[in-house]
Amino acid sequence: MTAESRQETVADYYGENVFGLKVMRNYLSEKAYKSLSEAIKNNGPLDPSIADEVAEAMKNWAVSKGATHYTHWFQPLTGLTAEKHDSFIELDGEGGVILEFSGDALIQGEPDASSFPSGGLRPTFEARGYTGWDPTSPAFIKEGSQGATLCIPTYFVGWNGEALDKKTPLLRSMKSISRQAFRLAKVLGIKTAQTAFSTLGGEQEYFLIDSDFYNERIDLVQTGRTLFGKEPAKHQQMADHYFGAIKERVIGFMEDLDREMWKLGAPLKTRHNEVAPGQFEVAPIFENQNLGVDHNMLTMEVMQKVAKRHGLACLLHEKPFAGINGSGKHCNWSVTGPDGKNWLSPGDNPHENERFLIMLCSVIKAVDEHAALLRSSIASAGNDHRLGSHEAPPAIISIYLGDQLNDIIEQIEKGAGMKSSKKGGTLAVGVDSLPAMPRHASDRNRTSPFAFTGSKFEFRAVGSAASLAGPNIVINTIVAGVLDEICGKLEKAKKANKNINKAVQQILQDIIKNHKRIIFNGDNYTEAWVKEAKKRGLPNLKTTPEALKAIKDPAVIKLFEEQKVLSKTELVSRYDVYMETYETIIRYEAGLAADMAKTTIIPVVMDYQIELAEMIKAVEGINKTKLTASRKLLKDVSQEAEKALMSVSNLGTALKGSSAQKMKSGMEELREIIDTLEGLVPADSWPLPSYAEMLFIT
Ligand code: ADP
Ligand code: MG
Repeated sequence: MTAESRQETVADYYGENVFGLKVMRNYLSEKAYKSLSEAIKNNGPLDPSIADEVAEAMKNWAVSKGATHYTHWFQPLTGLTAEKHDSFIELDGEGGVILEFSGDALIQGEPDASSFPSGGLRPTFEARGYTGWDPTSPAFIKEGSQGATLCIPTYFVGWNGEALDKKTPLLRSMKSISRQAFRLAKVLGIKTAQTAFSTLGGEQEYFLIDSDFYNERIDLVQTGRTLFGKEPAKHQQMADHYFGAIKERVIGFMEDLDREMWKLGAPLKTRHNEVAPGQFEVAPIFENQNLGVDHNMLTMEVMQKVAKRHGLACLLHEKPFAGINGSGKHCNWSVTGPDGKNWLSPGDNPHENERFLIMLCSVIKAVDEHAALLRSSIASAGNDHRLGSHEAPPAIISIYLGDQLNDIIEQIEKGAGMKSSKKGGTLAVGVDSLPAMPRHASDRNRTSPFAFTGSKFEFRAVGSAASLAGPNIVINTIVAGVLDEICGKLEKAKKANKNINKAVQQILQDIIKNHKRIIFNGDNYTEAWVKEAKKRGLPNLKTTPEALKAIKDPAVIKLFEEQKVLSKTELVSRYDVYMETYETIIRYEAGLAADMAKTTIIPVVMDYQIELAEMIKAVEGINKTKLTASRKLLKDVSQEAEKALMSVSNLGTALKGSSAQKMKSGMEELREIIDTLEGLVPADSWPLPSYAEMLFIT
């Protein structure tokens, strides 16, 4: 380390690979800078006449950072990111090149990306898909080992503007919540100094294992999870990994990751060991939701790249190891209102509390009415392994409020306050103040899938590998729908010169009466809750196919069309894509499980039987005694081997059919037998690294 690099602080290099406002000011004319920064702050519209200047500036900046190419960086329905690079070079007619980037190329691209899933929205004969610049998420540089690429965040749409990606509906849903927040501010007399926007802080869990082990496990390489593997004797029972001292190799990875992400302007804040051995978490400071989603996508990509440098593999799958905690992603959600304040934060006066309570009750109603849709937004083959297991929130969606807030809700339910006494009395919305709400309530409930945590809601059931776009689109849209309704009522009351506070009180009281069943402050992991939830009529959608149906529910379609987020065709196309993705995953997992068992594992078991049989024969011959225990071992191994072969054959039959459920149960059955065999065959001949080896990084 040189003296200079030791003196360099995070503040010096933070955002150095981002074409952000600060850089823009240096590269753009006063006029273009003003126009673009206004458009960014207000979420558009963009003045097309400045596009050429912005493109030129971006290119010059990128080239100064070593970039040779640019790409429209987008987020198709695969849930991953996509990029197709073009270099800046143009021939100069004299045997050389000049570097060019036009406004047109910045604003729109046509990547001929016809192979992305579109769920029938885009038959291949009219396969044009267009990427369009999203100026609200700044362009950035991806550094390669030999050069660099300018990445321009874009949305991805079809010929008629139909959304083929996750960013388009996200931006639309942000608009819709922003629109409703503005209306609410107007009717409540809150100042409207800026555009309202949703905020997102995405906590990301992941596993790290040695890359040598990773490369020896074809199941991890191909499916992201171990299809076989016996639970080790010691794993997470002692909870000695959680928040433990971070091992040197791991902290090296974390430091590298932080540095890379800080250069990209992603505000990573927290890092720690998680509950399972080999499991960790990283969390950023929350941001504008669009940025939050983009930054989480980038974080996942950079994590895998950085891990490799440290001889590690980063596993983002929701359940890489059976029997051990899986990984989730906590989606912390709130709204910054047009007054610049967090609207899920109780304020200092009754007026601010009123909009807080409206937001709170809107979320309660929205989640109750659309619990199934919320569940669908986190549905995936991977997350199915996790939801309902004992470390993860269940597939039943409910809301946790905590004692204090619950008390306030109960007061509102009782009716408009006769007097404003807090103790046992009732609360007059818009008149009384709320008691100070602790930012970190002591009674935090980690079992709830959707918890209020002081100044935001935390949707905890999201899977670790998922794009955060899906759940955020749903939360924005369902809450916008409720706010729309509430604003309608309040605007009417205002017009009729009625008392707004009383009108709010009535609306909130009705919401609580009708939707309090969604509130559950107890332990979500218990069997009693499953029963209770059923009694309350809350959906318990255990598998992805059950959950995805909600996307096609007429009430959902109506809401999404009203809020201008997704049309019926766009929704149905998503249903088709997600179902197909699910079925494809189950099928290739089942295929791989059968292959691995038959061609990698069972042959080793066969060899061991011969070894045992020969040993028994030889030893018995010499010692002239019967090796009862050894014979028993041989018998056990033979029996399990036979069972395994039968099970492979059953799985083969399931694979010929089309039932994902049959393939899943076939895989489970086979796994059980193979895991038993792992406990019988000598460890040094077992052909796969064991859980114990993989989970404890040294
Ligand atoms: P907790 O103790 O509830 O985990 P933290 O303060 O550690 O709370 O925050 C967890 C995540 O929630 C962080 O990423 C944080 O930035 C994010 N967060 C905090 N406030 C908000 C907000 N208003 N909107 C969205 N996310 C938020
Ligand atoms: Mg959290």
